[in-house]
Amino acid sequence: MTALITLKGVNKYYGDYHALRDIDLTINAGEFFSLLGPSGCGKTTLLRTIAGFEGVSGGVVAIGGKDMADVPANLRPTNMVFQSYAIFPHLTVGENVAFGLRKRSDLAKDAKATLVAEALAMVGLDGYSQRAAHALSGGQRQRVALARALILKPKVLLLDEPLSALDKKMREQMQVELIKLQRHVGITFILVTHDQEEALVMSDRIAVMFEGRIGQLDDPETLYRRPKSRKVAEFIGKMNFLSADVLAVGETLDLDVAGLGKVSVPPEQAPEDMQTGPAVAGIRPETLAVLFEGETTDRKLVDGVVDEVVYYGDMTYYDVRIAGVEKPLNIAMKNLIGRPVLDVGARTRVVWDARSLVVLR
Ligand code: ATP
Repeated sequence: MTALITLKGVNKYYGDYHALRDIDLTINAGEFFSLLGPSGCGKTTLLRTIAGFEGVSGGVVAIGGKDMADVPANLRPTNMVFQSYAIFPHLTVGENVAFGLRKRSDLAKDAKATLVAEALAMVGLDGYSQRAAHALSGGQRQRVALARALILKPKVLLLDEPLSALDKKMREQMQVELIKLQRHVGITFILVTHDQEEALVMSDRIAVMFEGRIGQLDDPETLYRRPKSRKVAEFIGKMNFLSADVLAVGETLDLDVAGLGKVSVPPEQAPEDMQTGPAVAGIRPETLAVLFEGETTDRKLVDGVVDEVVYYGDMTYYDVRIAGVEKPLNIAMKNLIGRPVLDVGARTRVVWDARSLVVLR
């Protein structure tokens, strides 16, 4: 993999406000990279420093090995797709896309028309060139904005919450299309999103940001399965947290977990610098199960009482109280054929497995 964008010690102040704090980051050529985090964590600011819309207060932004300090936004090999699309409603689709070429006076009219047609085909809008832009759906407008950004063949496409204005179905469809498009054009995509599911679905790697810093940078599966901090674990998906005591750190990590008792786990299930003492054990709802009548398991069991039931059609979420733990365990169960939905107050047994624990500070 070739590094394309490198940020070293990047800091950004707005007056006294420290919006980016010591960001070190490498993004590779051809990568689908996401900046994920809660509102105000600095992800848009970081994207804008790469685009050149914001200067940095300290540190270096380099693209293709070249320091971008003196390179204005319009001369960087990047192009941005904005949240609000910025489509001109009084122009046709074709004119909107051709707007991306306005500075290319070297291109003849025919050559421009070919590029517009190619860009529209790329986003699945063949034949839409003459359509009035105001007569488009949200999803189609989004495609026009993408075509306009891609027509210049940038090395990097920057996407600032591009799908946030779409409804859920359309958003899911566009997520898949964006992945396909990125694979097809092969350029680097950097996506800003606060939607963890969107980031997990689309990205090769994700940087999770909090308060101007990168909290963790990993591929989606590692982020989900091995969050390195409680903050990351809380932000990505759902997780039950149980207080724990780390008794020994060696070839295995021995711990005493509230409600579950003594367990040993491989050290990979904890941060590298884990020490003995108080900690938290995290366990995802879908790695727990309730044991139904007539089922058996060779995994571990703990008695519980159903405290809450939320039925989702394909899934049922249970809150189950177990002894020694204040907050009930959240458990996600698939509604398989023949499986009843338990009632509140039902006595049950919770199936769990030490392999799915993550130990956090
Ligand atoms: P959101 O998802 O809400 O857009 P974000 O993570 O993209 O959030 P940024 O837009 O990068 O956050 O903003 C980071 C912080 O910097 C915020 O607290 C914001 O108020 C502040 N900020 C952003 N732009 C400016 C500015 N031009 N002047 C002053 N403060 C700013």
